Amino acid sequence: MKNSDALEKIALDKRRTKIVATLGPATGNNPQIEALLKAGVNVIRLNMSHGDEKTHRLYVERVRRVSKRLGKHTAIIMDLCGPKMRVGKFTNGYIELIQGQNITITSRKGSGDENLIHSQYKGLYKDVKKGNRIFLDDGRLEFTVTSIVGKDVRCKVVQAGILRDNKGMNLPDSNVTVPSLTTKDKNDALLAIELGADFLALSFVRHKKDVVALSNFLKKHDANIPVISKIEKPEAIKNIEEIIKHSYGIMIARGDLGIELPAEQVPLIQRDLIKLARKHNCPVIVATQMLESMVNNSRPTRAEVGDVANAALLSADAVMLSEETAAGKYPIESVQNMDRVLREIERYQWKQGGFIKHETEIRSSGILSFRQAISHAILTLADDLNLQAIIIPTRTGTTARVIAADRPSAPTIGVCTRPEICRRMNLHWGIISIQVRKGDIHNWKKLCATISKKSPLVLPGHTVLLASGFNSNPSQSAPVLKIMHL
Ligand code: PGA
Ligand code: MN
Repeated sequence: MKNSDALEKIALDKRRTKIVATLGPATGNNPQIEALLKAGVNVIRLNMSHGDEKTHRLYVERVRRVSKRLGKHTAIIMDLCGPKMRVGKFTNGYIELIQGQNITITSRKGSGDENLIHSQYKGLYKDVKKGNRIFLDDGRLEFTVTSIVGKDVRCKVVQAGILRDNKGMNLPDSNVTVPSLTTKDKNDALLAIELGADFLALSFVRHKKDVVALSNFLKKHDANIPVISKIEKPEAIKNIEEIIKHSYGIMIARGDLGIELPAEQVPLIQRDLIKLARKHNCPVIVATQMLESMVNNSRPTRAEVGDVANAALLSADAVMLSEETAAGKYPIESVQNMDRVLREIERYQWKQGGFIKHETEIRSSGILSFRQAISHAILTLADDLNLQAIIIPTRTGTTARVIAADRPSAPTIGVCTRPEICRRMNLHWGIISIQVRKGDIHNWKKLCATISKKSPLVLPGHTVLLASGFNSNPSQSAPVLKIMHL
């Protein structure tokens, strides 16, 4: 093998763009969880909109157990429903609607049938007006409100289809007034604390107040779970800087976003949000419908492959699978396909001279902060010296977070004594988490020896760069860099 090939093999052995997979009936058992992780899933998402408490407990236990057995630091995101409006249940589990028919959505109790849909959101009749559009099931179905009678909202079906239990509803024409953190969310957050979830995702964030409300709720319960704001409302786009500053990460929740806003606006929003999130060292997940057709088919469409590729080219931290892995027929194949597409893109980026291009693009907009300047120096050094790895001993994960946001070409290893930080770092672009014992982390020579037993990236003869010392309060950063020949 030529030297450059060997270097490429080392560098690209680990995929940089992370994969988030949603767990559900299709993947909830131990063998399927194991298959998902082996196929390359870095982060598991539990969707609190579906499943009961018992199931969520079981899933968390299983993911932890299987991860431990496989020696993986799988992070778990518990995704709170937020004020997502949903229809209730139907006697037969679903109804079939035809174009032009009349249908009533009611806030009264009970189960629905061919002529009646129940709304889980009790204030629906107060928030809509005649002529408003109501979208259902990710916009697949569309109704127009014809009249409101008591708690009944009478509608005409504009776009027909099958409507199943608990599907979502969007009211893009109405200014909905529900609180962002519902009672169910609070109960689910308490469960997340108890189960030790690594992240909480908050749905339908509109302004920073929504994020702060959840963070305060967590603080009140002595918990410090990082919050990922789901960007799926037009208001969130308007308030995005503030939201990013108060969130650990963001998710571009294109399912709802593409209904609440014209879908054609989503691609550019996606591009802008990834740039902005990186500027704030904030991990960003691109979500929803990435390989949607694989819910039923063993191969993705070319367009879906293009979508996954585009997210990687735009340098998202992670891409997400929802129904594909939760309820699809080909969950493992979905992950395998995603993994292949991402690797192909990363190979191309590597050949183009690493991932730095995006970096300079971002930086051209102004003077760097102290932390960012150091981080920038780290990736240039690693590139100029052709280093085999950047090793980041970290206590809170902050140094890893900042360096990852710069997308260095050299593989980045986040080293920590705390398992929860190792899991958290696993969401970030390119970070390979390695857990070490307390005695190992301070003596960097010894640390390299320990890591070399766990990773082929750090071997005798390699040159690596060690970096640590960023603080979450940038003014207290005291970075230390060291280049070591092993
Ligand atoms: P959901 O969020 O799957 O919880 O709806 C993602 C999205 O809206 O894209
Ligand atoms: Mn959503």
